Amino acid sequence: MAKRDFYEVLGVPKGSDEAALKSAYRKLAMQFHPDRNPGNADAEHKFKEISEAYDCLKDPQKRAAYDRFGHAAFQNGGGGRGPHGFGPEFSSSMSDIFEDIFGDFMGARTGRGGSSRLRGSDLRYNLEITLEEAFSGRTVEIDVPTLVSCTTCDGSGAKPGTGMSTCRHCNGHGKVRAAQGFFTIERTCPVCQGRGQMLDQPCTDCGGQGRRQEHRTLSVDVPRGIEDGTRIRLAEEGEAGLRGGPPGDLYIFVSVKPHELFHRDGADLYARVPIAMTTAALGGEFEVPTLDNARARVKVAPGTQPGQRVRLRGKGMPILRSKDFGDLYVQLDVETPQNLTKRQRELLEQFEEASTRENSPTSDGFFSKLKSLFDG
Ligand code: ZN
Ligand code: ZN
Repeated sequence: MAKRDFYEVLGVPKGSDEAALKSAYRKLAMQFHPDRNPGNADAEHKFKEISEAYDCLKDPQKRAAYDRFGHAAFQNGGGGRGPHGFGPEFSSSMSDIFEDIFGDFMGARTGRGGSSRLRGSDLRYNLEITLEEAFSGRTVEIDVPTLVSCTTCDGSGAKPGTGMSTCRHCNGHGKVRAAQGFFTIERTCPVCQGRGQMLDQPCTDCGGQGRRQEHRTLSVDVPRGIEDGTRIRLAEEGEAGLRGGPPGDLYIFVSVKPHELFHRDGADLYARVPIAMTTAALGGEFEVPTLDNARARVKVAPGTQPGQRVRLRGKGMPILRSKDFGDLYVQLDVETPQNLTKRQRELLEQFEEASTRENSPTSDGFFSKLKSLFDG
């Protein structure tokens, strides 16, 4: 069977933006998801087709290749792919998509098995640290407002000492049927919300939810060398599940504040330091503070040019999960003297008179070249 055009599969025009692609994919994926169409091979095929199309088009690089070469772009070198062109790469990105847009839907699946025990939501916590903290690592206490499992009823939602009985509205099926014209519509039982069972008496502390709102203090180890934008996952530290369902995860998004002196690139640090023209010409040295509360000596070689960098080995950031450090690069910005006094001016004029070609070989060479260009 010839492969259909990816845009045609998703039913969108070729120039569609990301949002339009995602929304088209989402709509179709919901419609054809295997869980909604059990045993329907046609739906399963369609679902794979739209997933593959979206998987390609959501990636700007793959999309560009597809736009240029069509399916031929992916026919070579697809080693390890299954008979339908779905390799491991595909399945892993599929689960990303699910977490992304099927959060609720997939969450509801864990409720299989008769009750409606729902997994708790994942939580996000934004943590801002300084570059010094990223350098040395630290343990941070964070206060997370979250839903925790109710201790009174042990998460069950039932008042201690009471139990559950079969829902009389749906006779324990969790679903009720209603005739509408030719069709029989089956829907979730509104009385027991699909659980098939009713609490004899709800727990008074949590109102039968099995969880309550609480502030929790967690201590988080921020490792030394952590980079801006790192996500730390604390498994099962998110919201408690509904009625005894598994808890969600807590994600800590770490951002590192910009530093006054240092600019960071991976494990290396960069600093710009202005130096006087005379220091640049004569040489010298100065100290810079380092992130470990110490100082590092920077040597300025005689004849240093503006923008020249001095490398201080091992004075950068610690490398994550290693004992090594990056380097510190100090860029020397040479400052030309301003507001000269009469005497300084005379001295510089004398200096100019005494100057030779060797004092400024680059500019001298350059101006000779310019001159020969004009003369020629
Ligand atoms: Zn309770
Ligand atoms: Zn019911």
